[in-house]
Amino acid sequence: MFKRIGVIGAGAMGRGIAQLFASSGQQVLLFDTRAEAIDDALAFNRNLLQRAQAKGKMTEAELAATIARMQPAQTLEQLKDCDLVIEAIVELLDVKQKLFADLEAIVSEDCVLATNTSSLSVTRIASTAKHPERVAGFHFFNPVPLMKIVEVVRGERTDERHVQALVALAEQAGHFPAITPDTPGFLVNHAGRAFGTEALRMLSEGVASVQQIDRILRDGPGFRMGPFELFDLTGLDVSHAVMESVYEQFYHDPRYTPSFIAAQRVAAGLLGRKTGQGFYRYE
Ligand code: NAD
Repeated sequence: MFKRIGVIGAGAMGRGIAQLFASSGQQVLLFDTRAEAIDDALAFNRNLLQRAQAKGKMTEAELAATIARMQPAQTLEQLKDCDLVIEAIVELLDVKQKLFADLEAIVSEDCVLATNTSSLSVTRIASTAKHPERVAGFHFFNPVPLMKIVEVVRGERTDERHVQALVALAEQAGHFPAITPDTPGFLVNHAGRAFGTEALRMLSEGVASVQQIDRILRDGPGFRMGPFELFDLTGLDVSHAVMESVYEQFYHDPRYTPSFIAAQRVAAGLLGRKTGQGFYRYE
C-alpha cells in the first residue's frame, strides 16, 4: 500500500486529491510551479477540514493529524521518497510527458506515476517514459472528496499490479474505483459527450436557453447539475480541452464536434466559477 504520495498541481483537482489521501492516512506532499497555488490549496483544505470538524465529523486530534499529513514541497526533488506521484497539472500532452521524464530522474524505480488526465491517452503520456509500465490513469472528479467515483485507467503497457494497487488505495480512501480501458474520454467523459457537447449544440441552434437546458436536465432525468452548471464548476477551459481531445482521438467523428461557443468563451476568459463568470455569474 502507498504510504507517501506526491501530488503535482495544486489547482481544483490536486488540492482535492491531497485532502482525500491526507484524510485516509497517507503522507501527502503537494507541489506546484506556482508557490502561491500550494499555499492557497493548503489554506482551502484546512478551512474545509475545520468546518467538517466543527460539524462533529472528526475530533480535534484527527483534524490536527490530517492537516499535518499535507505538506508543501518547494521543489520536485522533494518527492524523491514518494511511492506514488499523482499529477493534476495542465491538460497538455507534452507538459505531462516532460513532468514524468523529470520525475523518473528523481523517484525510485518502484514509484508509480499516475495521471489525473480527463481526456489524454494514458498510453501516449507513458510512451516517452523510461518505464511506461509504471504509468496509469487515476481520474478523479471535482470536488474530489465528495465525488466518490475514480477511474483507474489501464494504459496499453500499465503493469496490472499497479492497477490493482490503485484500486486498493481508492477503496481504502472510501472511493469507488472503476477500472477502464485507455479509450478516448475513458468511460465517464465518453458518455458525458452526449451531456455537454449536445447541450452546447442545442444552445447554438437556439433550441433553448442555458437556464432552460439546465433546469430540464436537473428536473427531468434527475442529474444533480445541468450541463452549463457543470461547465462552470469544471472550468470551461478544462471541458473544452476534453471536447477537443476526444474529437481528435475519434478521428473527427462528427458526433464529438466541439462547440464554437465554448471556444469563444474560453478566449474571453469566461471559464466559470474560477473566473467569477461562466454561463452564470458568481459573486
Ligand atoms: P487547475 O488549472 O485548477 O490547476 C492546475 C495547476 O497545475 C495550477 O495550479 C498550475 O499552476 C499547475 N501546473 C501547471 N503546469 C505545471 C507543471 N508543469 N508542474 C507543476 N504544476 C503545474 O486545473 P484542474 O482543473 O485542477 O485540472 C488539472 C488536471 O486534472 C487536468 O489534467 C484536467 O484535465 C484534470 N481534471 C480536471 C477536472 C475538473 O473538473 N477540473 C476533473 C477531472 C480531471
